[in-house]
Amino acid sequence: MALRLETDIQYLKGVGPKLGALFSRNGIKTVDDLLQNYPRAYEDQRAARNVASLKPGDVVSLKAKVVSVSSYNMGKSTRRIYDIMIRDASGQIRCKFFRTPYKGYFERFQPGKEVRVVGTVTDYRGRIEFHHPDLKDIEPEEAIQDALIPIYVENEGLSSTKISKLILSVFEQVKDWPIEKLPLELVKNLILLGRNEAYYKIHQPEADAGNLYNEFKSEAHKRLIFEEFFWLELYLASKKSGLKSEKGFAFKNAELKNKALIASLPFRLTNAQMRAYGEIQKDLESGKPMNRLVQGDVGSGKTLVSFLSCLKAHESNFQTCLMAPTEILAEQHYRNAEKLLQPVGLNTALLTGKTKPKERKEIAEKLANGDIHFLIGTHALIEEWVQFQNLGLVIIDEQHRFGVAQRGILKNKGSSPHFLIMTATPIPRTLAMTVNGDLDVSIIDEMPAGRTPIQTRVINETKRPAALKFLIEQVEKGRQAYVVYPLVEESEKIDLKNATEEFEKLSAEFPKVRFGLLHGKMKSVEKDAVMTEFREHKIDVLVSTTVIEVGVDVANATIMMIEHAERFGLSQLHQLRGRVGRGQHKSFCVLIMGYAVSEETRTRIEFMEKTNDGFKVAEFDLQIRGPGEFMGAKQSGLPGFKMANLVRDFDLLKLARDAAFDILARDPKLSKKEHLVLREELLKSYGPNALAGVG
Ligand code: ADP
Ligand code: MG
Repeated sequence: MALRLETDIQYLKGVGPKLGALFSRNGIKTVDDLLQNYPRAYEDQRAARNVASLKPGDVVSLKAKVVSVSSYNMGKSTRRIYDIMIRDASGQIRCKFFRTPYKGYFERFQPGKEVRVVGTVTDYRGRIEFHHPDLKDIEPEEAIQDALIPIYVENEGLSSTKISKLILSVFEQVKDWPIEKLPLELVKNLILLGRNEAYYKIHQPEADAGNLYNEFKSEAHKRLIFEEFFWLELYLASKKSGLKSEKGFAFKNAELKNKALIASLPFRLTNAQMRAYGEIQKDLESGKPMNRLVQGDVGSGKTLVSFLSCLKAHESNFQTCLMAPTEILAEQHYRNAEKLLQPVGLNTALLTGKTKPKERKEIAEKLANGDIHFLIGTHALIEEWVQFQNLGLVIIDEQHRFGVAQRGILKNKGSSPHFLIMTATPIPRTLAMTVNGDLDVSIIDEMPAGRTPIQTRVINETKRPAALKFLIEQVEKGRQAYVVYPLVEESEKIDLKNATEEFEKLSAEFPKVRFGLLHGKMKSVEKDAVMTEFREHKIDVLVSTTVIEVGVDVANATIMMIEHAERFGLSQLHQLRGRVGRGQHKSFCVLIMGYAVSEETRTRIEFMEKTNDGFKVAEFDLQIRGPGEFMGAKQSGLPGFKMANLVRDFDLLKLARDAAFDILARDPKLSKKEHLVLREELLKSYGPNALAGVG
């Protein structure tokens, strides 16, 4: 049987049904999947080293003997660390594993066993160690090989050596090699390797290119990474051009109500707010549907900008809806709208999960006859019965909580309404290019005047009593505070203080202070009651899980204390921090670190002391933790890259983006002969809707 790339892996010589099933469980189903299972590093045996010569940062290969294997728990947690001590004639070094590669992995290593270690030397508190190195058996008659040896992620029953052998056999067996998928002109202009050559070289590199390969900078890497980015960018470019070609409503150039609203405010709009609104205005009058993301740090005044847009819709006789991720936020927006928009003649309504059937009926009627101008709510807005007379503008607050599908449903409640999406998660520009590639972006990068910057301190668990004392002092001065915990209950068997338990302890310890408790498992009525009490200052300290994360606005709250800060991403910490610093009093953020945090984690959390700028925090977070951790990255349909890395490969991302947008600019329908293969590939990767944009 002729082997093709799409052939089931079990038909590859040397595989068979049993091994095939094992591969399949690890996501490798076809021969092509196997080829795309790229090495995670390369071993250069000629550059083999001894232990005494190692320096932090070196990527090395060395032969050593196992001295001992031990394991212990990390700090007070139940996380288990495995520790394999190895030595050669020159010295010894520890190999640490913070997770088990697969069941039974450590049983392979008995004292005295010879292993080959390949990995990066790490500095841990002034001492060198390997963290998660590759440990390979040494073949008895192993001769030093004059080649770079690819190292694959191993699995039970699938050693790196075995995977490598099978991949090499693919190159011999496959007859029907894929043709080049990128336009030849592009390959030529950018001096990229051909696809097949790149495939081959990634698995069988030239012996002399060790460093380039281990840094993901070889020509083969460049080509494969470029291609991963290119398909994504082409997809985004086609989506964007499709949106641009749709017909939309052209709102009138009338700003009477806007002027009235602005005149009624006790403050002036910031320049950034005016600029963002100016961009929105233009879109709304253009006759094409707006798809705009307004990005601005917490407290930068996005809500007001969205209200101005709503008024503009109203003056052109269109309805607006605003969807918020939680009831608390929906209600907050509703209260604001009542305060600001009703005086200038807008009828507003609130729709959430707890709206009673009778009210719903009334809402349905008033939406249909146009009596409600502005509907604010939660997910309830996407329910089938919610039908507008003429929906012209959809506003979504805190976009990352909603999936793309929900955006689609809202869109269908009007005929191509304008979309305004507001997010307080400052997405690093690097990521924004991919995640939001199909949206136009306005950035509000200026805070309203008169805010004092929040002072942030990172402290150890041991300093907690002192921090609490400070918090109580602030409360006695009339301020309010948040204390945030990462977990609600001990659902995981991890020793974390949880909100409920700590709420009780604190209440007992400080009987004069009024504590409130808020967590995700409470009913929404209960949550609202607590929030209302906090807003009305009937509660001094709100002990909570991260449910207060977005948008909550209580100006008298000046302390944000976060327990186990190490469990949070920086962007999330930044969001939480943004709950304070909203009034005239100086605000503080105290980040408490649990026991046994690594040096790296400490450095990461301490970055919060250095800046109040959400964009800087986000960039740093992205570099350290990678894009997968970013809110929204997953829901947004961002594909998992096999090799590309948004931070490391940013230059290639830009190159790919320019190339993709350029092709669509020259051939908007992708109808030229040399581009037909692009259409095919988009369909294959992104499904039948992928071509909606190009027709
Ligand atoms: P965001 O949604 O961007 O986090 P909000 O829209 O909730 O921020 O605004 C935070 C607070 O700042 C609100 O109380 C709002 O009334 C106020 N605010 C908005 N714009 C200004 C401004 N230009 N000057 C002073 N205060 C403002
Ligand atoms: Mg907001």
